[in-house]
Amino acid sequence: MNTHQFDVIVVGAGGAGLMAALHASKKATTAVISKLYPTRSHTGTAQGGVGAALGNLEEDHPDWHTFDTVKGSDYLGDQDAIEFMCNEAVPAIYELEHMGLPFSRTPDGRIAQRPFGGHTNNLTGKPVHRSCYAADRTGHMILQTLYQQCIKNNVTFFDEYQVLDLILVNGVAAGVVAIKLATSEIHTFHANAVIIATGGHGRIWKITSNAYSLSGDGIAITLRRGIPAQDMEFFQFHPTGIYKLGILITEGVRGEGGILVNGKGERFMERYAPRVKDLASRDVVSRSMYLEIRAGNGINGQDYLYLDVRPETVNKFSTQDGRTRPDGSLYQVTAEELLGKLPDIVDFCRTYLGVDPMDQPIPVQPTAHYAMGGIPTNIRGEVIVNEKNHVLPGLYAAGEAACVSVHGANRLGTNSLLDLIVFGKHAGINASEYACASAFQHLPGDAADFAHEQIERLRNCQGGERIADITQELRSVMMDHVGVFRTRAGMSAALQKITELKERYQHVSIDDCGKVFNTNLLNAWEVGNLLDLAHVTTASALARAESRGAHSREDFPKRDDKRWLKHTLAWSENGKVKLRYKSVVITRFPPKERTY
Ligand SMILES: Cc1cc2nc3c(=O)[nH]c(=O)nc-3n(C[C@H](O)[C@H](O)[C@H](O)COP(=O)(O)OP(=O)(O)OC[C@H]3O[C@@H](n4cnc5c(N)ncnc54)[C@H](O)[C@@H]3O)c2cc1C
Repeated sequence: MNTHQFDVIVVGAGGAGLMAALHASKKATTAVISKLYPTRSHTGTAQGGVGAALGNLEEDHPDWHTFDTVKGSDYLGDQDAIEFMCNEAVPAIYELEHMGLPFSRTPDGRIAQRPFGGHTNNLTGKPVHRSCYAADRTGHMILQTLYQQCIKNNVTFFDEYQVLDLILVNGVAAGVVAIKLATSEIHTFHANAVIIATGGHGRIWKITSNAYSLSGDGIAITLRRGIPAQDMEFFQFHPTGIYKLGILITEGVRGEGGILVNGKGERFMERYAPRVKDLASRDVVSRSMYLEIRAGNGINGQDYLYLDVRPETVNKFSTQDGRTRPDGSLYQVTAEELLGKLPDIVDFCRTYLGVDPMDQPIPVQPTAHYAMGGIPTNIRGEVIVNEKNHVLPGLYAAGEAACVSVHGANRLGTNSLLDLIVFGKHAGINASEYACASAFQHLPGDAADFAHEQIERLRNCQGGERIADITQELRSVMMDHVGVFRTRAGMSAALQKITELKERYQHVSIDDCGKVFNTNLLNAWEVGNLLDLAHVTTASALARAESRGAHSREDFPKRDDKRWLKHTLAWSENGKVKLRYKSVVITRFPPKERTY
């Protein structure tokens, strides 16, 4: 009864899903399934901007962007994919502009750009203005623009439907199974091509910038269908989350001249990254912050530091650094200028902390932010299933749920929004071409059974274990042992805890047995995904005996290119994680040590 048929089904309505749907719909009948109302997707919270070497304010080149991204990735990114993304960035930004995206502007009317961590002038090593932004609401504007374009292009939306399973027939993608949140009815979606764009999974850590909905559903679903997850040990901690809450304070604040300060009033990043200081890449800044806090240099000896963006501080340090505006004049700001560029950030601090960043520094700590790993794909967005790069026909992935891999061991700020629009677009184009050239697979009668079983088991289990307890214990152990710094002992303890929690998860009881918007039930299902992803993440991290990018082992502090210049592929099989490895594509930039 509840069966639908489309050429292309997109799961997820964030920037990646909407860009894919928009381009797929030019050729094929296309539907988007989203557990959230589309414009509530996490993309809408992205503040800082989207990277592209437009060179609107100063000299810049896609080649420089490519090199910065390779270096930022700690040489684990695939260089062919990175080069493709950085070249495609420029036309992709103009495409968004032509769709009506209201970018901030330079005085002469061009798209405004701001500096961001790790993005440099390759000749001088100094930060370059590369991030295109719409005040501090860039993601919001992307989402609104793309949603309107999708509506105009007759994309069909199934809002508040949660996908629970992927249908594979003869090794080919043939659709998905979803539950309608309003009624708990199971719906089967029959398709020729499926694009997974379900976003990240920051919820497995206790302090996170990620929305509550980011439970890694897409990766968990594909793992259960025998598809590996790539480079899951690489998860980025953003340096500036609001203390205790994790809510993100964009790196754009440091781009506008804000600095990090310890309890002794020192600008400590001068010691860790003498050249780029507060704009070093995120892994470097987060580690430096942890080291300061460990050394007792937190504010009042506690586990947080200050982000200071008061105009007098910005002006003092920009004078000291000799920072100039693109016209050559000394960079000096007023509160009005900062308020114009960072309105939402100022608002967050006033609302959540009672702190006015124009008068007081902001208390911050590193916060779990971004999954570099995910469902392995090639540049075309096709999902690959092994170390030989074999493709699973009809299955595509894009956005944070996917791993192309352009971010390698560490993503540069502004490169995720870019990843969404570039690879979302190409996944959409390629999926629609594939779908239009293929005949529908015959849908088996039991296609919805596995989804049904998962839901009924949770609905009927009365084992007495509480979902809230399992979630809290999982998030704490991941924060303590699989966070910014890692050791064998800590991660082994975490693995043991995850195994115990997975066993306890088999005996959870939920309180709500109803059928109408049963968020209790679906939350329980999502926690099953968090457990699976935490398991794969920890097993991948424990095996990687080196430090690279965001993966920092205290027992193996050096990068080891001889043994570990390779991508991890992790399969989940009968409750165990199996690991194999795949080589990194190196084209123009042989690995070098990173310096700042
Ligand atoms: C606070 C914050 C600020 C950021 N700022 C920047 C920035 O300035 N620049 C930058 O480049 N990056 C930034 N990032 C990162 C970037 O925003 C994200 O990586 C990106 O938006 C992810 O987009 P996505 O389309 O992959 O997924 P999302 O936007 O997270 O969307 C996921 C979609 O999947 C759907 N979904 C999930 N599971 C299911 C399911 N089971 N069934 C159906 N639908 C499902 C959801 O409903 C949603 O529509 C930021 C991230 C955060 C958290």
